[in-house]
Amino acid sequence: MKEVVVLGAGYAGLKAVRKLQKESGDFHIILVDRNDYHYEATELHEVASGSQPREKISYPIKDVLNLKKVTFIQDSVTKVDRSSQTVSLANTSDLHYDYLVVALGFCSETFGITGAQENALQMVDVNTAEAIHNHIVKTMTKYRETKDRNYLRLLICGAGFTGIELAGAFVDERKKYAELAGVSPEEIEIICVEAATSILPMFKKELAQYGTELIEKLGITLMLGSMIKEIKPGEVVYAQGQDAQELQTISAETIIWTTGVSGSPVMAESGFNQRRGRVVVANDLRDPDHPNVYVVGDVSAFMDPETNRPYPTTAQIATRMGAHVGKNLARQLKGEEPEDFSYTSQGTVASVGNTHALGEVGPAALKGYPASVLKKVIMNKSLLDIGGLKELLARGRFDLYH
Ligand SMILES: Cc1cc2nc3c(=O)[nH]c(=O)nc-3n(C[C@H](O)[C@H](O)[C@H](O)COP(=O)(O)OP(=O)(O)OC[C@H]3O[C@@H](n4cnc5c(N)ncnc54)[C@H](O)[C@@H]3O)c2cc1C
Repeated sequence: MKEVVVLGAGYAGLKAVRKLQKESGDFHIILVDRNDYHYEATELHEVASGSQPREKISYPIKDVLNLKKVTFIQDSVTKVDRSSQTVSLANTSDLHYDYLVVALGFCSETFGITGAQENALQMVDVNTAEAIHNHIVKTMTKYRETKDRNYLRLLICGAGFTGIELAGAFVDERKKYAELAGVSPEEIEIICVEAATSILPMFKKELAQYGTELIEKLGITLMLGSMIKEIKPGEVVYAQGQDAQELQTISAETIIWTTGVSGSPVMAESGFNQRRGRVVVANDLRDPDHPNVYVVGDVSAFMDPETNRPYPTTAQIATRMGAHVGKNLARQLKGEEPEDFSYTSQGTVASVGNTHALGEVGPAALKGYPASVLKKVIMNKSLLDIGGLKELLARGRFDLYH
């Protein structure tokens, strides 16, 4: 009996297992994740703001497995040894595999900026997202005692996709924070510190401009052209403008780091040919050096033949890769050759709170209500795709009319 080991039960890993477990044959699957639940990473900002409880964006992994074909192990992967075909885990004995799928996802990228890891809050999983919300509740309460306005300031490092979605979710919750602090909602400051001089580069100029105006209209302060140099406890040190020598500071009791992500550190630890935790995979999604190892989701870099650059890492491509690997493994287990993967993005939609969004689907630019509805439809599709109908009904976003 062949052993297929899948590392990570995020979009890519869980989708691969769900696809492969439908096949029959002489194989068994082992799925490993450090948590016993799957979470929708695309909605972490809602847990961080307090708009959603953690249960709304996560569900037990075992609920969606066929336990006759899949064994689930809750443990942390520490290393992969491709020459001996073994996986080391933190608390359980080593696993042997015939086929391996590495889908360990993303972690925060600090670009070596001093203090970013230690002095800023990270938002990389459900626990860190929940910790941000708990922290905000504490700081708002602290304002009542101290009257120090730093406790009212929510400072987001980075105005990329994640930073903007987080800032939008904070706007939705502003009233609740204000009640805790005993101030008016306008006194809660939401600030994004960003090195670039414009935002939303993934969208065409006109749509990006609309997004910038929307964000500012909602009361989010964009500090553009501000290059972060260091994070000190309660303080961000930055230079204004590319060549600026003089450093400036802005203080806040809540500082959140959202400037970028890299692939899991396990990739470097295991000697993969990686850059920032990502492996450039072959056309069929295999590790070019090892034909029995697939690398998918945020730990992989799949080249876009048009731009000759890797496609951006997203849940959308991770899910598609997972499905493809499930199919390719089924082929390999039957002695057939794996097929090449191809990808066309179905579009990108960024939410700015629950009722505002903007995005592009094909050539069409979407704004306002239609974009916000589409965002929820995309979330629901993801739940259906990976969790099935039961998870969609339990956790879907059906507040489409607002
Ligand atoms: C706030 C936010 C909003 C986003 N919005 C969008 C969006 O709108 N659209 C979009 O397409 N993408 C979006 N993304 C990006 C998207 O979430 C990622 O690209 C996607 O999660 C990658 O999927 P994955 O399966 O590779 O990894 P992940 O979703 O990161 O899953 C990795 C899994 O591996 C497990 N794991 C990690 N390390 C270990 C270990 N050492 N041992 C055991 N288990 C481990 C984790 O517990 C997790 O279950 C967003 C991301 C964020 C943070």
